[in-house]
Amino acid sequence: MGSRQVSTTQDWQGKHVTVAGLGVSGISAARALAGLGAVVTVVDAGDGDAQRERAAELAPLGVRARLGDAETLPEGTELVVTSPGWKPDGPLFRAAAEAGVDVVGDVEIAWLLRGLDGREPAPWLAVTGTNGKTTTTRMLAAILRAAGLRTAAVGNIGTPIIDVVLGDEEYDVLAVELSSYQLHWAPSVRAHSAAVLNLAPDHLDWHGSMEAYAADKGRVYEGNTVACVYNVADRATEDLVVEADVVEGCRAIGFTLGAPGPSMLGVVDGLLVDRAFVENRQKNAQELASVEDVDPPAPHNIANALAAAALARAFGVAPKAVREGLRSFRPDAHRIAHVAEVGGVTYVDDSKATNTHAAEASLAAYEPVVWIAGGLAKGASFDELAERSAKRLRAAVLIGQDRALIREALARHAPEVPVVDLDRTDTGAMAAAVREAARLAEPGDTVLLAPACASMDMFANYGRRGDAFAEAVRELAAEDA
Ligand code: ADP
Repeated sequence: MGSRQVSTTQDWQGKHVTVAGLGVSGISAARALAGLGAVVTVVDAGDGDAQRERAAELAPLGVRARLGDAETLPEGTELVVTSPGWKPDGPLFRAAAEAGVDVVGDVEIAWLLRGLDGREPAPWLAVTGTNGKTTTTRMLAAILRAAGLRTAAVGNIGTPIIDVVLGDEEYDVLAVELSSYQLHWAPSVRAHSAAVLNLAPDHLDWHGSMEAYAADKGRVYEGNTVACVYNVADRATEDLVVEADVVEGCRAIGFTLGAPGPSMLGVVDGLLVDRAFVENRQKNAQELASVEDVDPPAPHNIANALAAAALARAFGVAPKAVREGLRSFRPDAHRIAHVAEVGGVTYVDDSKATNTHAAEASLAAYEPVVWIAGGLAKGASFDELAERSAKRLRAAVLIGQDRALIREALARHAPEVPVVDLDRTDTGAMAAAVREAARLAEPGDTVLLAPACASMDMFANYGRRGDAFAEAVRELAAEDA
C-alpha cells in the first residue's frame, strides 16, 4: 500500500490480512476489514477463556482466529495490522519483513478507510508528545465543541479510531491523540495540523533509541497543511518541525509559558494570548483566555492549553470558543487531581506521572512538597529530576520495586531532604506512605503522589494506585474530623 493515502473497497476484497492481537484495536480492525471483504486472521499469543470468547464473537463475520501462536506469519498474508503495544522487533514482524509484507497499525487503517463510503472525511488535528497527550487532546475537543463543531477525542483514547471513521456519526474535525507506537505504524497519516508537546526519553526499550523515538514522534508533522505546533521550551520539538516535509505554506507555531514572539501563543500578565493567528502579528496579540480558565492552572497544564488553543486556532476557531472550551474542560482522574485538604495540607493524586518528565512537571507546580514516589523505573535515571526538584522538597517517601534508584539520586543531589524508604512493595504500602507523608508535612504543604514510575509492581495500573492513595487520604481525613 506504500504511501497511498486512501484506499478503495476493491483494495480490500479478498486481501489476506493478519491482525496481531485480540485487544480493542485488533478487534475493531478485524471487524472493519472483514466487513470490506478481506480475508482476516487474528493471531494472539493467549489461548484462554477471554481470547476464545472474543474469537467466537468474530467468527460469524468470517474472521479466523489462531490462538496460542503470535509468532509465525499465517500462509498467504499480504498485510499485517498490529496493535500499538507489540514490539516492532518481535518474531511476527521479522517474519513479515522477510516475506516483504507491510506492517501497519489501526491508525493507518483508519486513515486509509476515510471517505471510503463516499462521505467527505473529517480532517485530523493531531497531538503527540511524551506527556500531556490525553489532556491536550481532550482540551482541544472541548474547544472545537465550544465552537459548534462536530468532533470527538480519539486515537489513543475513547472509541477505536477505525470505528469512528466508519461509524454513522458525522464529524467536522477530529482531535486525534497519537502515541509514538501508533505513529511508528502509520506512515500515510497527514494531519491538517499537529502538535508535539514535549520530548523526553520514554519507551526506549520499544523504539530502540532516543533518535528512533523522536523520529516516530516527528512523523506527526509530515504533510501538515496549516500549522506544526511546537514547544518553545523544548528545542527537540522545534527540530522535528524543521525536518518535517510539510505542505507549502504550512507554518511553524510555537507555544510558550513566557511572552510570545510573532507566530507563537504564550502568556502575558496571566492571560493566554495568540500572536500567530492574528492580523499583523508583528504588532498585535489576541487575548484567548486567562490562566484561571484552565483546570488545574499548573504550568504544564497551561502549556497543554496553549497547544490545544494553537491547533484550534489553526483550524479557524474564534477566540471566544477557546475560552469557553477551556472553561468547560475537566481533567481526567489521577492527573494532578486534588483529593482533599487535611490539617492544612493539600493531597494531590498524580498517579499518571509514570515517568520522570511528568513527575518533574508536576513537582514544579507545588512548593513545598512532600513527594510520594517509586514503582517500576523502566530503565530511567532520576538524577535530573532530583537535582531540579530538590529545592521544592520538604521530604520524600519512597515505595515500590525501584525505590533505591530514587533514594540514591536524592542522596546525590538533595542530601538535605529527609527521605523515608518504606522498603515495601505490597499494596498496603500506599496507606503507610500517606501516613508518613502526613507526619512529615506542615500546614500549607502539598503531599503529592507523582511516582515517576510505572505502577505494575504493586498495582494493576496507575488508576488503582491513585485510588489507593485517595482512599488512604480519606481515612486520614475521617480521623482528623
Ligand atoms: P499522556 O496521554 O501523554 O500520558 P496525560 O495528559 O494523560 O498525558 O498526562 C499524564 C501525566 O503527564 C500527568 O499526570 C502529568 O503528570 C504529566 N503531564 C501532563 N501534561 C504535561 C506536560 N505538558 N509536560 C510534562 N508533563 C505533563
